[in-house]
Amino acid sequence: MCAAKPHPFFIVVLCMLLDLHIIRQKSQELREENKRFKVFLKPIPTRMVDTYVQELEKKIAASIDCTACGNCCKVLEPPVDDDEVQRLAKLKNINADEFEKEYVGKEANTAIHFLKCQPCIFLQNNSCTIYQDRPASCADYPHLHQPNIKYRWKSLMDNYAMCPIVYNVVEALKEKMDFK
Ligand code: SF4
Ligand code: SF4
Repeated sequence: MCAAKPHPFFIVVLCMLLDLHIIRQKSQELREENKRFKVFLKPIPTRMVDTYVQELEKKIAASIDCTACGNCCKVLEPPVDDDEVQRLAKLKNINADEFEKEYVGKEANTAIHFLKCQPCIFLQNNSCTIYQDRPASCADYPHLHQPNIKYRWKSLMDNYAMCPIVYNVVEALKEKMDFK
């Protein structure tokens, strides 16, 4: 945490943590603090929290180079729907059945299908080779602009431990809200 307290934008940029190993460690160390933060946010209007998170995400994401990280494409298995399976199969020059057999997993007891490769087969040199055609859940990641962030705490904390954008947004939110 920074000692000085200048303009919030500088706090955000100067104090950013990008090292994935340290972020993973910090997410363990700050587990109890984050539980308290969840309780702290409870009485705060949902829309206000969402707006702060979205503002912080804009600033922080603009300062982070995802091609120097690529972690989400290495460790997550993004959900895909039938249309996306068809599209991705075409890009691989195989038919949808082959693609599904080779690269698609199914979540037990749900209808959710996901790309089961880690790292993703479409990742090369930390960049998505099918960027324009990537699944909607990839385009949406890290989902911070979606509403009701307070009620998506488990997924927020999962992403906090592995995505520098999410980690730094949550830490900046603590600062902004004067959370001790
Ligand atoms: S979205 Fe997060 S995890 Fe994915 S590449 Fe960007 S900083 Fe890394
Ligand atoms: S499809 Fe592209 S954006 Fe999605 S996980 Fe694979 S490499 Fe990453």
